[in-house]
Amino acid sequence: RRWIRLLNIDGINVYYGNIHAVRDISLTVGEGEIVTIIGANGAGKTTILKTIVGLLKSRTGTIRFQGDDITQEATAGIVRRGIALVPEGRRVFPRLSVADNLILGAYSRKDKEVERDLAKIYEMFPRLAERRHQAAGTLSGGEQQMLAMGRGLMSRPKLLLLDEPSMGLAPLLVRQIFQTILDINSMGTTILLVEQNARMALSIADRGYVLETGSVALAGSAADLSDNDKVRRAYLGE
Ligand code: ATP
Repeated sequence: RRWIRLLNIDGINVYYGNIHAVRDISLTVGEGEIVTIIGANGAGKTTILKTIVGLLKSRTGTIRFQGDDITQEATAGIVRRGIALVPEGRRVFPRLSVADNLILGAYSRKDKEVERDLAKIYEMFPRLAERRHQAAGTLSGGEQQMLAMGRGLMSRPKLLLLDEPSMGLAPLLVRQIFQTILDINSMGTTILLVEQNARMALSIADRGYVLETGSVALAGSAADLSDNDKVRRAYLGE
């Protein structure tokens, strides 16, 4: 079976009490794509990701994954379907070892290939392999980001949601993390990437959405957005 659209969000509205954080957002992510949502602080990017995985509920509209309506589904079920969120600020378990953090990422799986996937993650992130017995809280910021991404991959997601993976990292590490996102995508995982670093995000994405105060202000191919005057001025610092 093939799905042209892996994720299809249609007209969602999300509130925190009276704050209307996400306004009539519609967006799609096709199988195999890297799609980015860029926007300033507070534009609603994180809110969209939390709503996709069921941590927040939309008042209206629908979210479909592989054609199934998941709008009202609980987070555990959504994760089992193949969506993983790597949250902003990493959120690793600081007292647990690197290995235990990774194994926890596979908790919703029932198959017996966890060890094999763990080996693959260590191959992708040799730094994590060297530090597998170290407490996660003692890793550097970049290493914690790698661990959070590795943990997300341990659930074998079809769709990986990344919330500002570049936050707080030095430029060299940012380039490494973005290269890793490309590698993960080329191995078959679809990516929805939320970023404030619009330049890096657009450099690896197929398509993008520009979010302004909860609404989609612009959408298009990453190439078109990179050429757009408004995007260049407001988000690329030109
Ligand atoms: P950033 O890049 O700074 O993380 P963002 O685009 O991810 O921003 P969100 O975190 O989605 O933005 O926030 C969207 C809006 O909702 C903001 O105005 C924010 O203040 C508000 N908001 C977020 N979380 C809550 C909450 N728990 N309670 C009340 N308001 C919230």
